[in-house]
Amino acid sequence: MKFIFADAQDTIDPNYDFLNDEFSSDRVLQRTDKYPHEIFKKKPYDGMLISRGLLDDGVYKSSSKAYSAAQSRRLRLQGVKNFLRYFDGEIFGDNGAFSYHKLDEPPYSVAETVDFYEDCGFDYGMSVDHIIFEYDKRFDTDAEFDDNFKVTETMQKRYDITLNNAKEFLHECRVQNVNFHPIGVVQAWSPQSMKSAAKSLVALGYDYIAIGGLVPLDANLCEEIVAAIRDEIGFEIKMHLLGFAKAKQLERFVKYKITSFDSTSPLIKAFKDSKNNYFAPTKYYTAVRIPSSDTTAALKRKISSGVINQNTAQKMEQQALNAIREYDKGNTTLEYTLQCLKAYERIFRDKVPLDRYKDILSSKYWQKCTCEVCQSAKIETIIFRNSNRNRRRGFHNLWQFQRELEELRKGHNIKC
Ligand SMILES: [Zn+2]
Repeated sequence: MKFIFADAQDTIDPNYDFLNDEFSSDRVLQRTDKYPHEIFKKKPYDGMLISRGLLDDGVYKSSSKAYSAAQSRRLRLQGVKNFLRYFDGEIFGDNGAFSYHKLDEPPYSVAETVDFYEDCGFDYGMSVDHIIFEYDKRFDTDAEFDDNFKVTETMQKRYDITLNNAKEFLHECRVQNVNFHPIGVVQAWSPQSMKSAAKSLVALGYDYIAIGGLVPLDANLCEEIVAAIRDEIGFEIKMHLLGFAKAKQLERFVKYKITSFDSTSPLIKAFKDSKNNYFAPTKYYTAVRIPSSDTTAALKRKISSGVINQNTAQKMEQQALNAIREYDKGNTTLEYTLQCLKAYERIFRDKVPLDRYKDILSSKYWQKCTCEVCQSAKIETIIFRNSNRNRRRGFHNLWQFQRELEELRKGHNIKC
């Protein structure tokens, strides 16, 4: 069960100046900024994944392009391993079907996708799929008497596109004798249709398949799908779960022999989740919000409308930062720190989650964690404030997640 980290170019400036909130003077984004695997001695993941949809390579223009046009060119020129400076695990490529879900057909052709994987030097490449958002087991049973569970033309078309592309993809890989290992993607709407799609891929000759469309589904539904597919194709075929973010529920999937799964969730939760921002072995903590008074929209509005004076806001911000840093050193009390946090945050937010702040501050987990981020950035790791703190916390989460996965593998005698 390998954890494959889906990259979105989230890097950190290793010498960021937290006290002055400034980048290091010798920073050259692409050269001096670091990826998670360059920060930690112990692996933060088993492999990486790049989604084609995140590239600005002139083929398809979607709203979210984590890779600029220049980076996309360089990726192809240097190859994925040199670009990511990652030589410690395998690199997967997929098309990022979510990024083009609104289109009738995928924007990438099969032949051109094979060239892309091959040119970039991926270890594994996924067939060109088209996402199906509908999923319900009642599509298998209720279609006759409930119109809600009739398979629509669009669903069937996407299923057919995914399967036809997988057929063409494998053929093309064989003809060209490619260096990467092809993976066939399953997209379907019910246990039975998942089974049929997986069975077809195996019949085509795939020995590694990937299950798509899991992102919006809860762990029960994911398990229903995985169980159905294993029931159909047995346990010899390798299985990858695309965008599988069930961090705390991995144990129930051990029995299905999951070869690999990709996720970006441990990193993203650090700054996108409303509560669960900082991973510890037994629980998730909420990061402490002390946003910059210069850049916080809600605060800027209050300043410009005269509700609050800018100097007062800056003073309260500094007080909150000083208090939390002094608390870390043992120089001030938890109560005083919470007071300062509350005073500042109340300017721009009605409800301050003081109980959750109390929880993380009293745990002092950042002092106990042995990862390189917590050891070097200390209390700054748990402050919700600009990308260099927020991403560091995300890096810590990846590291912590991988440690838990390794424990799980050890406990179940799984090699990887
Ligand atoms: Zn840590």
